[in-house]
Amino acid sequence: MSTEQTYIMVKPDGVQRGLVGEIIGRFEKRGYKLVGLKMCAPGQQHLEQHYEDLKEKSFFPGLIKYMNSGPVVGMVWEGLDAVKTGRSILGATNPLQSAPGTIRGDFALAVGRNVCHGSDTVENAQKEIDLWFGKEGGVTKWAHHSDAWV
Ligand code: ADP
Ligand code: MG
Repeated sequence: MSTEQTYIMVKPDGVQRGLVGEIIGRFEKRGYKLVGLKMCAPGQQHLEQHYEDLKEKSFFPGLIKYMNSGPVVGMVWEGLDAVKTGRSILGATNPLQSAPGTIRGDFALAVGRNVCHGSDTVENAQKEIDLWFGKEGGVTKWAHHSDAWV
């Protein structure tokens, strides 16, 4: 198991429903370190780039419309096995199959309104972090100040 970074995003429904604090809290309490945080409304082109692997899917236009319906909160979380464990904290893509105790399993019913996003591989996490936070300097390094208070 190695230390990884993953891109987690609260989607527009999660922001509008006031779930940002809840979602941040779950990652914090699990032990992950917040190294990037940003609210933005990046527009259609950026969202299409984020989901470019899905552009042939029939739900793609609806997905982009949903994602473009309000601001999102993008985050980078760092820690052991962050990509896979991050997705297990979110729960299955379709909330009807998400276990209780996961974010989607506790707060969602519809796949098209499933509250949050999480990178699926380490490689895609890096791509998404570069896309949302920029290739250089967008993510904070804690190394120089680590463990001062805990
Ligand atoms: P995940 O977000 O769990 O990685 P995918 O990458 O497969 O899932 O899909 C991206 C997003 O597209 C999902 O989170 C969901 O919002 C939406 N989506 C996936 N499948 C469907 C579907 N069958 N109908 C509507 N929206 C979907
Ligand atoms: Mg995905």
